[in-house]
Amino acid sequence: MRKPVIAGNWKMYKTVADAVDTALAIKRLVANANHCDVVIAPVFTALKTVVDRLEGSNIRVAAQNCSTEVEEGAHTGEVAAFMLREVGVSYVIVGHSERRQFYFETDTMVRRKVLAAISSGLTAVMCVGESLAQRDQGIAEPVVSGQLSGGLSGLTASDLDRIIVAYEPVWAIGTGRTATPEQAQVMHAFIRRVFAERYSEEAAQALRILYGGSVKPENIAGLMSKADIDGALVGGASLKAESFAQIVNYKNG
Ligand code: PEP
Repeated sequence: MRKPVIAGNWKMYKTVADAVDTALAIKRLVANANHCDVVIAPVFTALKTVVDRLEGSNIRVAAQNCSTEVEEGAHTGEVAAFMLREVGVSYVIVGHSERRQFYFETDTMVRRKVLAAISSGLTAVMCVGESLAQRDQGIAEPVVSGQLSGGLSGLTASDLDRIIVAYEPVWAIGTGRTATPEQAQVMHAFIRRVFAERYSEEAAQALRILYGGSVKPENIAGLMSKADIDGALVGGASLKAESFAQIVNYKNG
């Protein structure tokens, strides 16, 4: 049985004080959620404070990015994965479409970040997903499988327990337009097949694949009813404690 993961990506929102307020409100609202792993991803500057304030809770903290470099050095503006680990971060989001699109991250950079995350003891949430033009051209699956191959080359089967894949169709992120549960299921099943071919059926069955793209309290249950959807990466709806908690608590809704 794969344990679901509900993760909130706060993007570049919230001061430290706002992040702490939201994190503490979520902590109260999801205190009884044992059916899934709950993760929030504040901005870098809020990470340590949020980790400290959530100590002893069932919420883990993610960073939204890490350096491709594994060791400290002359890399102005970068933060290494081991430095995130040092402040109590457990996960890191890698290869988000906003980073691919606006900061020109390539599959090679994504792969180096995944490797840096794993070697530092973090779990990498690796994002993949096609654009609308690619979907319309009928090349969504080759695009996603190319991102998987590019981002995961060099990983061994034993690294896979530190990998979560987030399928985030670019056309559904921040647009209010969600993939239907059926559309998402088709791609999630495809991603699992790619893992089965590349690694093993066992590794593929253990892999957690999250859906991301305009997830809201109203659509989470439909998505979670699908066999290969193991949770969600939530942007906009994770910024408010109440809506994020409703998504986490989808089973009771
Ligand atoms: C995201 O940022 O990963 C995301 C899925 O955003 P939204 O839920 O706002 O579409």
